[in-house]
Amino acid sequence: MSIRYYSTNRNLKNVAGITPFTGKVAFKEALLKGQAEDEGLFMPDTIPQLKLKDIQKLKGKPYSDTALLIAKAFLADEFSPNTLKKVVKDSYNYSVPMEEIRPKTYIMRLDQGPTASFKDFAARMMARLMSNCRPKCERLNVLVATSGDTGSAVGEAFKGVAGIDVTILYPQNEVSGMQKKQLDTIGGNIQALSVCGKFDDCQNLVKQAFSDSDLLKFNLTSANSINFGRILPQIIYYVYAYAQLSENGEDAIFSVPSGNFGDALGCEYARRMGLPVAKLVMPTNENDEFPIYLNTGKYKKVSPSRACISNAMNVGHPSNLARFFDLYGGTVDRVGQVHRYPDLQKMRKYIFSVSITDEQTRETIKSVYKRYHVILEQHGAVGWAGLEEYFKRFPEQKLAICLETAHPAKFPEEIEKLLGLTIPVPESMKSIDQREGSAVAISNDYNNFKNYLLKKLKIKE
Ligand SMILES: *Cc1c(COP(=O)(O)O)cnc(C)c1O
Repeated sequence: MSIRYYSTNRNLKNVAGITPFTGKVAFKEALLKGQAEDEGLFMPDTIPQLKLKDIQKLKGKPYSDTALLIAKAFLADEFSPNTLKKVVKDSYNYSVPMEEIRPKTYIMRLDQGPTASFKDFAARMMARLMSNCRPKCERLNVLVATSGDTGSAVGEAFKGVAGIDVTILYPQNEVSGMQKKQLDTIGGNIQALSVCGKFDDCQNLVKQAFSDSDLLKFNLTSANSINFGRILPQIIYYVYAYAQLSENGEDAIFSVPSGNFGDALGCEYARRMGLPVAKLVMPTNENDEFPIYLNTGKYKKVSPSRACISNAMNVGHPSNLARFFDLYGGTVDRVGQVHRYPDLQKMRKYIFSVSITDEQTRETIKSVYKRYHVILEQHGAVGWAGLEEYFKRFPEQKLAICLETAHPAKFPEEIEKLLGLTIPVPESMKSIDQREGSAVAISNDYNNFKNYLLKKLKIKE
């Protein structure tokens, strides 16, 4: 039986005029649509199972071997083995270092991809899967609104991918000089638009375009972070880390610095596929709605979200919470209203969460450097601090792996101020200074944007 995808909103009773989507779709449709028509998130109706001995066989093998195992488990019905092999080979051509910090405790660095954050892992594989399921001889046109980092990860991921063009919209006065350079100069099939307006304006332009029937012929699609195509690749590194580091089928703890919960969701699925995960530690920054929920059983989003130094995690209502709730028997909608609470006892059994303040984050960056000579940036530091909090409460000798989700060189001001040293810039970031290219400036008026798309986008290969 092939895996089908249902909506997290399927049980809602006509909330706010939305009709629940009670059907199921194939992976390809979930991938191209991004989200269900009832604004719910797509979920696989079956979770494929892995055998421990097959996981253990991946020890010492390249990352792409683990990627292929997971890709086949989910996608074998819809993609040929050769296609999947090519997708994972092309997606993963950089290293995934593990650093032993103290006995049995590791940091997994997911910061060696082209834009130096873990988002490269998911974006690169999703781009190649999309390229393989576009309609024959037609192009796909991806539209993304970004406040900075996601746009460059998605842009780089799709660069040179056959049959797909990407248009990135960013608010002209809300990105840093470095981000602007990253976005404007990707080149090739990637075009940046600098919008005279705010991030919300960018999002609105994209939303309107998706519902505009004049633009249907362009096969518009989004590379949004709630796409299941971005969750699936995030299962892989948990299995990979476990295969490399475990000795004899022991349980492991993972600590995952969390914002929209897509990264942590990869670990949740890995456990449900059979990976021996004793605990998923999900530290947040001061946006503490989830740790408060686990403690009290009451969920209330943080609105507006709090601006912390780990800014990629400034999320007051994590979009993937809907998937976590669903997996544990509950329902929460896009705006954060709970329609049915999940099984809290069960959630507490597998998940631990704690909120880490900015002050603790800075202290952690300093103390980890002092004690272990390891440089963390602020997101990874939240992960590490969360793991230490967990061990304080539950002292045990277990294999533990903490994810570092970005390269410290992405945040030179903060890290250099705290540690008093210069961070060496990775190769992928060095070349950006020499790149050329420019964005097209547009107003925040929808008709202008539409005219631009009508003039520029291509339909056929
Ligand atoms: C996006 C991001 C996160 C948060 O990941 P989620 O999947 O949203 O929980 C953490 N660290 C960095 C560097 C990020 O870019």
